[in-house]
Amino acid sequence: MSGNNNKTNTRSLSNCPIVGAPSELPTTILPTLQDMLKCYLLIRDKLKFERSGKDPSIFEIAQKLAERVEIIWRKSFIPTVSRNRIVKLIQDNHVKYLHLIRYPQQKRNKKYELKVQSFREDAKKLFDIAACKCMSHALCKCEKQRKVPILEHKFIQDQRATRKMRIGPVDFTETKKNTTTGKKEEERVIETYDFR
Ligand SMILES: [Zn+2]
Repeated sequence: MSGNNNKTNTRSLSNCPIVGAPSELPTTILPTLQDMLKCYLLIRDKLKFERSGKDPSIFEIAQKLAERVEIIWRKSFIPTVSRNRIVKLIQDNHVKYLHLIRYPQQKRNKKYELKVQSFREDAKKLFDIAACKCMSHALCKCEKQRKVPILEHKFIQDQRATRKMRIGPVDFTETKKNTTTGKKEEERVIETYDFR
């Protein structure tokens, strides 16, 4: 048995050679695809354990994962695509992942290795479920409920690129009530984001 790095109180969780060990989603940064797949494995293992080894359906896992990722995005004030769309995106990415992980050992060659490498690279990027993908707030023509608020725009751009900003430990439900324009908004954002 490998995995002596695992904490002893965890069950023998599968350590995936492509995305790593199962784990919870991060709480202060918007998850990458890799984070999503690690949490997918965690949910799958937990459900399987609770059901004495019976495999949960991909759809059920994707539903649970979608709920979790929505909570984090809500904390960041960035509107997301619909729940159904999120579930679909999880399933689609999981299919790509399965294709690599289940690829027959004897057929694995240089080309396969390159595919895995490129998947791993892509998986380090934001799992982007923002309702608005506009590069500039000034040019955004999305309808109001899809728009990324102006102050959050900097945050989403960061999450899509260098990923240095964090969602701070703020009571987001309270501050949300005060979202008027101007100074108050600026103060909120300063305490919300923690630059590292
Ligand atoms: Zn837009």
